[in-house]
Amino acid sequence: MGNGAKAAQKRERNTDKNASKGSKSQMKTNEAAKSIVCTICKQAFFVTTRQPALEQHSQDRHSKVLAECFPDFKA
Ligand SMILES: [Zn+2]
Repeated sequence: MGNGAKAAQKRERNTDKNASKGSKSQMKTNEAAKSIVCTICKQAFFVTTRQPALEQHSQDRHSKVLAECFPDFKA
């Protein structure tokens, strides 16, 4: 006994119920979080962007200082 019984076993697992889980609301949050805007190229940065990153953008993109690209940024 027992021979050939395994052939009848088929895996039927449907786990697609967790596929769609709130990615739409995340986009709205990201848009709202972008409040630092470069005055020269209008590129938006997250409010959580660190000062060094903004300085690097100013220098690499425009060869300017942070205050010229982000006059509203407060360190
Ligand atoms: Zn810029």
